[in-house]
Amino acid sequence: MSVTIAELLAKVPTGLLIGDAWVEASDGGTFEVENPATGEIIATLASATSQDAIAALDAACAVQKDWARTPARQRAEILRRGFELVAQRAEEFATLMTLEMGKPIAEARGEVAYGNEFLRWFSEEAVRLYGRYGATPEGSLRMMTTRKPVGPCLLITPWNFPLAMATRKVAPAIAAGCVMVLKPARLTPLTSQYFAQTMLDAGLPPGVLNVVSGKSASAISNPIMEDDRLRKVSFTGSTPVGQQLLKKAADKVLRTSMELGGNAPFLVFEDADLDLAIEGAMGAKMRNIGEACTAANRFLVQESVAEEFGRRFAQRLQEQVLGNGLDESVTVGPLVEAKARDSVAALVDGAVAEGATVLTGGKAGEGAGYFYQPTVLTGVTARSSIFAEEIFGPVAPIITFRDEAEAIELANDTEYGLASYVFTQDTSRVFRVSDQLEFGLLGVNTGVISNAAAPFGGVKQSGMGREGGSEGIEEYTSVQYIGIRDPYADQKK
Ligand code: NAD
Repeated sequence: MSVTIAELLAKVPTGLLIGDAWVEASDGGTFEVENPATGEIIATLASATSQDAIAALDAACAVQKDWARTPARQRAEILRRGFELVAQRAEEFATLMTLEMGKPIAEARGEVAYGNEFLRWFSEEAVRLYGRYGATPEGSLRMMTTRKPVGPCLLITPWNFPLAMATRKVAPAIAAGCVMVLKPARLTPLTSQYFAQTMLDAGLPPGVLNVVSGKSASAISNPIMEDDRLRKVSFTGSTPVGQQLLKKAADKVLRTSMELGGNAPFLVFEDADLDLAIEGAMGAKMRNIGEACTAANRFLVQESVAEEFGRRFAQRLQEQVLGNGLDESVTVGPLVEAKARDSVAALVDGAVAEGATVLTGGKAGEGAGYFYQPTVLTGVTARSSIFAEEIFGPVAPIITFRDEAEAIELANDTEYGLASYVFTQDTSRVFRVSDQLEFGLLGVNTGVISNAAAPFGGVKQSGMGREGGSEGIEEYTSVQYIGIRDPYADQKK
């Protein structure tokens, strides 16, 4: 990076982006952003009030008509320029994410590459929004369908992937011709602030993207969701907050996309390539310090290979280096805040009290940051409380199974249905298992499957709607059907 950390932080706008300007909060309020590796305050930002939230919606609505009429190619080229600028600023974005969220810098670089792909992908999708043309079966009408922008959107993002969760929503909304208000997570607003400035630098017209960070999420989202002009809310976060937002969305019959919590099973069959399974486990568990909705949460391992899998996985985890993610040698950063570390510790302590054995880890880390040791637990059962909870930390509970039927039953024994993973070398087993698993995503012999070109999303209480892929842009459009009297309608009577 060509600038120092102090110079980088000075480049990040600290105001609210409303229309064409970064402004102070209407009541002058602010909130602080902390580095979870050190506990230091790294920035103070304007904290949006309800009045600011409505001002942001006003700014968005003022340009919706013009923006919807912008040629798709123009929107595509703005996204493409955004992609190129984010790539040029990659090291700055990576450093910001490590500073505000804690992930190791190598992983933060990985997120910049992944998150930026949504800008490139949707720049390509913007010009491929097709409709249909045909005749009704009995011949009375010609029918045309077209996709229109759904209208002003509220986008609410979590703290765990500060760039990718924003680009995954902002890029398809821009591509479809929608205007938006983005509300980043309180713990990690800096990346979104800098991303929004980057999109302005890329030529995004003022008002299309507005950003209201703040200390009270509901003070921002409630007035926007109660406003008749809003058409859609896209939310990524926990299931309880998603449920609250869905209830609120019902009052205005808003379109919704909900990317909620997960409880991913990671199935290892006795015919698996164990080297691949260990590599996959490292990716599926340790990526983002386990703070991912796709994180493997329950390792379901066939009895005959469970001892070897547990031993080798524990050994790999012992080799990890805990510390400040800005240090290139560190592979496991801190959890995002003290509450997150304490909740992981409580889950592990609870599992141990219920009879689980700690193979490695099992304790909070030392020092000022919110560290928790990478941990493997054996002797966990479907009755253990940790089996039902989203852990959101570097903890791997191992549960054994006898046969395929039991593995599938255990895997599906959850209210969640986001990610799942299967390790086997038997192709027919892949099809049998994928047919029966109730999850929106399945990785086969791999622990990392997220990709801008693929539809990401869950079933059951993990949510609804898809982000990425060709499906991602459709979430920001509504279909209009036009029926035209068929010129031969009379002859066909
Ligand atoms: P969270 O639900 O606490 O917060 C998510 C966002 O919602 C934040 O911006 C927060 O400020 C806002 N928020 C909180 N309460 C709100 C309210 N009452 N009204 C409006 N907005 C509100 O979740 P989190 O702790 O930031 O993120 C972790 C959760 O997100 C995990 O459950 C994880 O599985 C989930 N997640 C899901 C996906 C996915 O794609 N399915 C991706 C990443 C994270």
